[in-house]
Order: sequence, then structure tokens, then C-alpha cells
Amino acid sequence: MIAAEHARRFLFEDGRVRVGGLGLERLAARVGSTPFFAYDRGLLTARVAEVRAALPDDLDLGYAVKANPMPALVQHLAGLVDTLDVASAGEMAVALDTGTPAERITFAGPGKTDDELRRAVAAGVLVEVESEGEARRLGTVARALGLAARAAIRVNPDFAVKGSGMRMGGGPQQFGVDAEAVPALMDRLAGIGMELEGFHVFAGSQNLHAPILAEAQERTVDLVLQLAKYAAGPVRYVNLGGGFGIPYFEKDHPLDLDAVGANLRRLCAERLRPVLGEARIGVELGRYLVGEAGVYVTRVVDRKVSRGVTYLVVDGGMHHQLAASGNFGQVIRRNYPITADVAGAADPEGEREEVTVVGSLCTPLDVLGDKVRLPSADVGDLLVVHQAGAYGLTASPTAFLGHPAPAEVLV
Ligand SMILES: *Cc1c(COP(=O)(O)O)cnc(C)c1O
Repeated sequence: MIAAEHARRFLFEDGRVRVGGLGLERLAARVGSTPFFAYDRGLLTARVAEVRAALPDDLDLGYAVKANPMPALVQHLAGLVDTLDVASAGEMAVALDTGTPAERITFAGPGKTDDELRRAVAAGVLVEVESEGEARRLGTVARALGLAARAAIRVNPDFAVKGSGMRMGGGPQQFGVDAEAVPALMDRLAGIGMELEGFHVFAGSQNLHAPILAEAQERTVDLVLQLAKYAAGPVRYVNLGGGFGIPYFEKDHPLDLDAVGANLRRLCAERLRPVLGEARIGVELGRYLVGEAGVYVTRVVDRKVSRGVTYLVVDGGMHHQLAASGNFGQVIRRNYPITADVAGAADPEGEREEVTVVGSLCTPLDVLGDKVRLPSADVGDLLVVHQAGAYGLTASPTAFLGHPAPAEVLV
């Protein structure tokens, strides 16, 4: 059962799920209600260590806060990674609250308002400008504050990455400045006295294929080295993006992290360091650091049979965990790994039944598991959606249907 493979981090010998060593009924009692998201501190720490071991020592590891901005979780990661990468002033505030120095916070994202730019300049974080207009507004708000803006250019690459779950570079994009327009823009920004620290290139997200990621990294390095030739001053900052994926579905294979790391070692040693010397070079990872360290826990409130199909209706749903319902950018709906936290779940010979797990929203979109095989579960039992540590609660329409918001806990 592939779901169990993905879920193995949380499954103990008795087949029960534990987060931070605690069983789910105990945790539910501690949290006070279901549904809830639970994140495992130990797994987060272990994942960062794994990534560190694979990446070259002189490469910064950034956490893309968008993936999971829960303050306690960001606080935990702040002590483990080199940079926090934010995409709104709200995320910036969470990052600053961790005590991470502003020098190690970067701010990307389209549509930054003057207010957000002002806050970023006042804080001293690095703003990755997404257009010429934004760069000019950044200069204006900085002058008004009497402070120097810290700026880098977000570049929309002149290539696309195949096999990404979400493409965010290549072709026309709302993200970044088209690569071919960057040299002229750098000239104009030098003309208004804006110093640029470097470049940020992010080509795409959720990629499970090491050779494709390696090719994207190679092309990113080509692009950065090309652009560096046009820079008015020394390039001090290069963000190579990320896009490391995690397995969500039955046929997904985990990313070969060692292969990706080996490629980055070669690129850093042979191509980037000889030209860029002491520049801060980094990657930014969201879901790869946090996605597999979280579960979404719901309780069965109804069990019913409709024309031969058994439905388990749970007290959660797509309003908390939109991605598991297949409505967060997926083309085809596929099941996230889902398990039942019931006695006997460990026994591979144990009985399974085919059920459809639905949430409590009055819409046919609210399906968490379509025809999944689970040990028999009844009203009152807990069901667990795995791979829920990234793009869960904050990527879901919590107000839809007016149900209460879930709790989140870091254990
Ligand atoms: C969303 C985003 C990320 C994180 O993507 P993951 O797939 O979670 O790793 C990183 N960088 C930028 C610029 C992003 O927009």
C-alpha cells in the first residue's frame, strides 16, 4: 500500500500514528478539538539535516515561508536554515518575529504595494523586484524614508522546466523581469542610484525528477553568469530557486536528493565560485522541508452507504486541506495518502474495505479520498491525511461553508 509508504514516518509498529511521540487521541485531547494539523518537530529537524548533508557547504538553505507560515514552525526552522524567504509583508512580520536578522530575509512576489515596500526597507530585508515599476517605487519609498533600499532582480528565465507541478518561469509570467530585459534595466536602475545585490531565478515547483531539476539548475547558472557580466557592481547574492518535490500520489517516486545535491556541488565549485567568489548563493525550499512532516487529522462523524458506495463523512474537509481534495491547481484528482488510526491497522493481512472519504462541506468537490482501501473505521474514529505539512491550512478556503477553523500544533 503506497499510502502507508508515504505515511511511514508517522506509523509505528502497532500501526498507530504518532506525532512527536504522541498518539492521536492523546493529541486530540491536548488540542481540544478535531480537525487539526499536527507537525512533527523532530521530522522537520531531520529533513533539514538530510538536505544540508546533500547540498554543498557553501550553499545557503532558504525556507520559503509560503509553504507553511505557522509562527511556531517558522521559529523552529529559523534556527536551522540560513534564510527565510517571504512573499508578503505578513510573512515578513512572521519571519522578523523569529529574530532572524533582516540580512537573512528575502522578499519576493508580484504586486508589492508601496506600504509593503516601505515596511521592507524599514526592516532592512532584501527586496526581489518583480518589474521595473516595482523597482522605481522601491527607490521612491526608500528616498522618502532616507534609507538605502536593498534590492535584487527576480528574473523570469528564458527557459521553462518540464515536469513541474507548477510552472513559475519561462514564457510570459507575472513573476520577475524577462531575462532578456534585465541588462538594460540594470543600467537604468544604476542611473537612479539603485544598487543591486544580485539575482533570483525561480523556474518552478513540485519537481520529482532529479535530471530535470539538474538541467534547470544548469540553465539557471548559465543565465546568472550571463547576467553577472552586465552588473554595475559585484554580484553578492544569487538565489537559484528550488522546486524540490515530494511524493503525493500512488505513482510518485521520491526525489533523488543526492543526485540533485551532487549537481549543485559541481555547479558551485566549477562554475559559480570561480566567478562569483564570496557571493551568497542559495536555494529556497518550501514543501520539501515541511510537507512530509505534517498530518491533517479528522474524525468520522457519519458512515453511510449510498447505492453500494460506503462513505465516511469526516468533520474536516477541503476548507482546511484544499490540496487533498484535488482543487489546488491539480488537473486530475488523485488521492493523497490517507490512513485510519484504528487498532489492527498495522496488520498487512488485516481486512480492508473500500470507502470514499468526504468532508462536511455541502459540495461534491469536498472529497478527501475517493475509493480508498482502509481498515474498517466507524463514527468517532480518526482518519489521517498525510503529506499535509505544506500548502494546507493557509492554502485553503477556510470561510467556505462557515465551519470552524482547525487548530494547528507543532509537537
Ligand atoms: C512558492 C515558492 C517557493 C516554494 O515552492 P515549494 O514548491 O514549496 O518548494 C519558492 N520560491 C518562490 C519564489 C515561490 O514562489
